[in-house]
Amino acid sequence: MGYTVRLDKDVCISSGKCVDAAPEAFRFDDDALAEPVDGALSDERLLETARNCPSGAIELYDGETQVDIF
Ligand code: SF4
Repeated sequence: MGYTVRLDKDVCISSGKCVDAAPEAFRFDDDALAEPVDGALSDERLLETARNCPSGAIELYDGETQVDIF
């Protein structure tokens, strides 16, 4: 099973990097804050996208365990 995405909207600064890099997995809500979409994205690309988030809003989980993205 692949990683689960949790996105902290209180931390998102609406940079759009995740939405641009992986629109199949992230989108903006009506407040221009990112949210995960139930799309297929490899764990490798999820890791890359989470690492490139400038605010650290994207958290990845392997089951209940948070993945160390760095
Ligand atoms: S990359 Fe991070 S800060 Fe930028 S829109 Fe996505 S979650 Fe928000």
